[in-house]
Order: sequence, then C-alpha cells, then structure tokens
Amino acid sequence: MDFGLRGRTAIVCAASMGLGRSCAIALGNEGVKLIIVARRRQVLEQAATEIQAATGAETVAVAADVTTQEGRNAILAACPDPDILVNNAGGPPPGDFRNWDRDDWIKALDANMLAPIEIMKSTIDGMIARKFGRIVNVTSHAVKAPVGMLGLSNGARSGLTGFVAGLARATAEHNVTINNLLPGTFDTDRLKSNLQALAASTKRPVDQVTQQIKSGNPSKRFGHPDEFGATCAFLCSVQASYITGQNILIDGGAYPGTF
Ligand code: NAP
Repeated sequence: MDFGLRGRTAIVCAASMGLGRSCAIALGNEGVKLIIVARRRQVLEQAATEIQAATGAETVAVAADVTTQEGRNAILAACPDPDILVNNAGGPPPGDFRNWDRDDWIKALDANMLAPIEIMKSTIDGMIARKFGRIVNVTSHAVKAPVGMLGLSNGARSGLTGFVAGLARATAEHNVTINNLLPGTFDTDRLKSNLQALAASTKRPVDQVTQQIKSGNPSKRFGHPDEFGATCAFLCSVQASYITGQNILIDGGAYPGTF
C-alpha cells in the first residue's frame, strides 16, 4: 500500500535508537524527508547515515534535548513546518514514589508530557493552515495498565494522554490527526534496562525475568521495533485521516481487557 506521504517532511524525536529510529525508518521508506533528533550527536549522526542509506530518504540530524527550550528551538530552526511530528523521549527511571522529590516529577513531566505539548504548540497551526498534519506521540502501555515501579511514567504520560484527547478533537476538521502509540514490551535498550531493574529489585537473574515476561505475553515474545515503526507510518498515512484521538496499544495481546 502506498501511504501517500512521498515528499512530506517529518520531525522524529528521540530517533537515534529503538522505537523512534524504527518510526523514522518506516517513514523514510515512504519517501518522507526526515529530521531526526537525539542528544548524543555521534550516535545520532551515525543513525542518520544508516537511515538515509537504508531508505533513500534525505535525513537531517539535529542533536538536541527535547526537554529544553534551546533544544526545541534547534529542532524548529531545522524544520519549522513539518507535515508529520513523532513525539518521543526517554522514559523516566523506575523506583518507589517515596524516594521521588519534586525535581524527579518535573523531569518526568518535561520529557513525557510538556515537551510533546510544546512541540505540538509550535507546529500545529502550520499543519492546520496547510490542511495536512499527522502527530504521533509515543507513550506506553503503562497509560492503560499501570506498571508498579514506573510511577513517574504512569503519571506523566497520563497527563499527556488527557491533554491530547481534547486537542485531537479541535484539529480533526483540518485533516490534522493526533494519536498516541502505546508500546508494550519491545526489544530495545530501554526494555533491557527495565528488565535489569526488575531483576535487581526482585533479586533474580535477568535471564529468568526476561523469560518470564516473554512467556507471560500471549505472543510469547517481545515486539520488534519495526512492527512499531510500521504502525506509526500507517497512522501518518493519507488512509488514516479518519483516525484521531486514539490510544493504540501494541503489546502482543498482553492487556487482558475485551476493549
Ligand atoms: P531507547 O531504546 O532507550 O531509545 C531512546 C531514544 O531516545 C534514544 O535515541 C535517545 O538518544 C533518545 N532520547 C532520550 N531522551 C531524549 C531527550 N531528552 N531528547 C532527545 N532524545 C532523547 O528507548 P525505546 O525503547 O525506543 O523507548 C522509547 C520510548 O518508549 C521511551 O519513552 C520509553 O519509556 C517508551 N516505552 C518503551 C517500551 C519498550 O518496551 N521499549 C515500553 C513502554 C514505553 P539520546 O540518549 O542520545 O538522547
């Protein structure tokens, strides 16, 4: 299927590795010009070279921290009028809420709620004026079913989810859609560090924890980042113009609810 995106431009945040990188590759394969963002310049530039070689899409690297105004300014200077925005950032650390202070909460809110809102604020009116826009926010399965040790993530991402639910209804008539993608357990560095934290907190070997989580998933495996990227690209397609304000869970069937 041709997603009708050839010639469009996308900002893909947190895209040097993992899920963001896979979103960039899937959009690049559809002929979208890419502006990819992450903090570590060398890793990012290497990723940009690889993504451009793999997809043929022009790929510009902007080394920036999405949680800072300076970082967001640099992204928008490189691409003031994106057609597509994929909001993503690192996830907050696991832990016990008794040990978190105000600064910990502000960091989580900055990365997983306020940065996406600020970048949407700077780009959405251009999308509305041009009558085309696709925004995908990478959130987490923790929004739908909280993960005990990820309280900072449960809280901050739920704030973004509530905000987006309202905004998406205000932009739909302009062919600007906003959806959230909720990863379950995907095989990335973030997952590895969460598994290590879980192993340490339960005093079990990492391999045992990994196998237990895999076998507890109805699909008996972790997700592949490419599966995530493909869904992101579909949500950005012309075919997906009637899908907005949704929270789409990609978790191999782990969430046990009927709806
Ligand atoms: P990952 O493999 O650790 O990759 C994170 C990417 O984000 C890297 O490119 C990193 O590069 C970049 N990044 C982090 N903080 C940033 C910032 N402030 N500004 C710009 N770039 C930043 O993570 P992932 O597994 O792809 O996860 C992506 C998101 O999905 C995270 O928020 C994670 O919590 C969430 N999630 C993942 C899973 C999973 O199973 N993988 C499940 C639920 C939720 P630099 O470090 O160089 O900046």
